[in-house]
Amino acid sequence: MTPSPVWHPFTQHGLGEPIPLVTRAEGALLHCADGATLIDAISSWWVITHGHCDPRIVSAIQAQAATLDQVIFAGYTHEPAEQVARGLIRLTDATLPSPDPLAHVFFSDSGSTAVEVALKMALGYWHNIGAARHRIVVMEHSYHGDTIGAMSVGARGVFNRAYAPLLFDVETVPFPAAGREQATLDALERLCTAPEKPAALIVEPLILGAGGMLVYAADMLRSMAEICAAHDVLLIADEVMTGWGRTGTLFACEQAGATPDILCTAKGLTGGSIPLAATLARGRVFEAHRSTDRAQMFFHSSSFTANPIACAAAAANIAIWEGEDVRERIAALGAHMAARLAGLAAHPALENPRALGAIAAIDMKGGEGAGYMSDLAPRLRAFFLERGILLRPLGNTPYVMPPYCTSRDQIDTVFDAIADAADCFGG
Ligand SMILES: *Cc1c(COP(=O)(O)O)cnc(C)c1O
Repeated sequence: MTPSPVWHPFTQHGLGEPIPLVTRAEGALLHCADGATLIDAISSWWVITHGHCDPRIVSAIQAQAATLDQVIFAGYTHEPAEQVARGLIRLTDATLPSPDPLAHVFFSDSGSTAVEVALKMALGYWHNIGAARHRIVVMEHSYHGDTIGAMSVGARGVFNRAYAPLLFDVETVPFPAAGREQATLDALERLCTAPEKPAALIVEPLILGAGGMLVYAADMLRSMAEICAAHDVLLIADEVMTGWGRTGTLFACEQAGATPDILCTAKGLTGGSIPLAATLARGRVFEAHRSTDRAQMFFHSSSFTANPIACAAAAANIAIWEGEDVRERIAALGAHMAARLAGLAAHPALENPRALGAIAAIDMKGGEGAGYMSDLAPRLRAFFLERGILLRPLGNTPYVMPPYCTSRDQIDTVFDAIADAADCFGG
């Protein structure tokens, strides 16, 4: 067979690892060309929420594709985009109240671009009101995407070493690990009172995803939001991973009672079916761009901004959230995952169990190499694949983030496999 010309993301082709050919998906399952069936325990990289090929989302996509496939969004609009924007504002009004609520929705195509848009909105805000603020404050271990701006505000490491010369400088506050929270607040306070004030703080609320599923307290997020508000520093919440119920609430910020100035959503916005992202902004951010001066408009677009088919999928997702008790489903799934995680905590090769909503993670001892480059990662990946499970540990950290339709039996299969993997590889 001739080798495939496809170049895969985050894949070292030189290792010759098997690349399954997936032909069909349904609920929590992936079906492969070789007859294998896999439990999709990471929601196909954190995107699938209700389940694969949800019939309501599929039929919305089918109907829209046959009606209006694509139209320029600069100066034109369409009903699916209007519907999604209204739905997002309804949902955030109900869960993230504020005297100056999130009231404006800017569409893009991925989490990374939603973050780029948020950064450009923040700088555009200060520029247009005539203040010279451009520094961005970030949290240690954060991940915000793989484009140049998103990498700049994310943790530096092996993933972006080659591109470091292109990345802009940021200010970093330490991760607020339990017991060390005050250091984070002090650092933020110091940066916000420096002579050169920051433009914005960008955070992943409550849990840092790609940084290793690191959980911090909701009180901390609230305190950080208060410090930002006190010093008039914009707060950007990157809810790309945490949104759409992953942490138990629709958005994670809700648990902190903290409404950001700018909020990024992508991954689960369409139930994970098709790419779409949105950056929501408060009135003040929008108003700073609204003027009769064309030089102050928001200079950002991509070819497929607010693609109608993607918007129809998002509208169907919003209808599911408004019509069903999705939170209840997540609570039941999360409770079972937490119970199974507690059962793993006593294993001598496992440590630091942590859970939030429908996310559970634990660290495995042993292996060679630090952090993401731990050699446990590829070995565990192969072990789980062999067992009919799609799990992709972050270094030595296996984590489970399943679609909300995943059954108790499927969850049990996944946690049993993690325990067996700890027996085999942990040390
Ligand atoms: C996945 C992720 C992104 C990037 O989203 P893409 O759609 O992959 O570009 C940004 N921020 C967070 C917190 C993420 O988890």
